[in-house]
This record gives sequence, structure tokens and C-alpha cells, in this order.
Amino acid sequence: MKKNDFYLIGALLLIIALSFLAIQISRKDKVKEGSRVLVTINGEEDKSFYLNEDTTYKILHENGEWNTLEIKDGYVRMVDASCPDKLCVKHREIHDDNESITCLPNRVVLRVIGGQKSELDGIAN
Ligand SMILES: [Zn+2]
Repeated sequence: MKKNDFYLIGALLLIIALSFLAIQISRKDKVKEGSRVLVTINGEEDKSFYLNEDTTYKILHENGEWNTLEIKDGYVRMVDASCPDKLCVKHREIHDDNESITCLPNRVVLRVIGGQKSELDGIAN
């Protein structure tokens, strides 16, 4: 193998590495900085999480009921809950500003704030 071939392979590897990195960065860009999900229990704000930090959180209620939310790749969804209807678990994942998932039996609301602006912004509040 000639010396030039090494340079060529090295350059190719570098291009592959850089494009891989670019894909990772553009994926992160999807999540607007400052996007959060607000957890409301019984009408009171409980906690909020940033959508750009993957996490799982279990909400424990005083009456023994519970909801588990998951944040992944900028989206939030209810992965599990103790409610009988499981409507919150069946709800699709949310991401855009003012989108919400409600668990009526457990009186839990997950709402996205500071995400991509929808036209309803300003009217809703
Ligand atoms: Zn529910």
C-alpha cells in the first residue's frame, strides 16, 4: 500500500466521522432550547422537565395512584399509569408548544411550554 492511500483512507474516515457528527447535531436541533414539559397535578404545578434531556419520572399521588412519563428525543409521553382507562398512555407523544396529555382519573396534565409556537399562542393564556 502506498503512502497516499493511507491519506485517502484517513480522509474518508474523517468525512464519515464528520457527517455522523452532523446528523447527531441536527437531530438535537429539533428540540428548541428552553422547551419544557410542565407537570400539573390537581390543577397545581408540580414539576417541569427540559425536553432536550432524556428522562423517566414517576408521579406518585397521595392516594397511591401513579403516572410514569418519559422524555426521549425531545418528545414526552406517558409510558405507564395506574388509571383504569389508560387514555393518557394511549395518547401519542407530544412535542409542540401547548400540546398536552391529560390523565383525567389521576388529574394529571402534561403540557409542553416554550416549544414550537402554534398560532393559538397568546389566546390560550
Ligand atoms: Zn391516565
